[in-house]
Amino acid sequence: MARTPATPTLLDLPPEAAEARLADWVAAAGLPAYRARQLWPRLWQRPAASWLDVTDLPSPLRARLEAELPLARLELATEQRSQDGTRKFLWRLSDGELIESVLIPSGERRTLCISSQAGCALGCVFCATGTMGFRRNLSPFEIAGQVRELVLRDPADKPTNIVFMGMGEPLLNWEAVDVALSLLNSPEALGIGARHITISTVGIVPGMEALAARPSNFAWRSRSTRPPRNGAWPSCPSRRSTTWPRCSRRRWPSASGSPSSTC
Ligand code: SF4
Repeated sequence: MARTPATPTLLDLPPEAAEARLADWVAAAGLPAYRARQLWPRLWQRPAASWLDVTDLPSPLRARLEAELPLARLELATEQRSQDGTRKFLWRLSDGELIESVLIPSGERRTLCISSQAGCALGCVFCATGTMGFRRNLSPFEIAGQVRELVLRDPADKPTNIVFMGMGEPLLNWEAVDVALSLLNSPEALGIGARHITISTVGIVPGMEALAARPSNFAWRSRSTRPPRNGAWPSCPSRRSTTWPRCSRRRWPSASGSPSSTC
């Protein structure tokens, strides 16, 4: 049976909503408004692993933030490195589900292939994730947090490009992917340019229409070895394409107990 993501946190909110919630919290705590401006960049721009690490804040405030607005994390279960510098990360979510990200360096470019679901319901014939079945949708934080965790570990690893080609069909989790795109793209959050973010889909028409309706020009790419969903291939009103990233259908040796590969 499909499970649901953990309780939403501050990091699951779109940038404007998170900023407003922080401002409300600061006001309710009787603190000066500048404290909200001090806290806000530590969500995504200069992420903090924990409020306890933000040493420019008074110790009592750090403790209160940690108790009332804790910063969610993804736990690194395994990291594998290949000889060409490609790195695969296996993340354990708060409920024990496992998802993957793959960081692919190429010159000045660092492309991160991220997951949008735990497992996948679509069962594409070439894909090991499809054999797992669908476990659950990821929350906005669990999607954009795959980038946040890399930045926390080493800011030099911050990806220049994002491709939604890890586990799952992103347009079947549109509500969370929509928020995650804002977190990835907003200059107030991770600040990765829209044209450097590619959504790969088997062709979920309602999701493609929702993606095309967004103001930013995100790239998209079709992927399928079987007939498209919802009938004939649509002619997307904002058809855009980018270079097919090297993680396409990459197969990995499986870590013990981990999913064996993604698309
Ligand atoms: S290729 Fe993508 S959409 Fe198809 S089963 Fe694998 S994860 Fe799902």
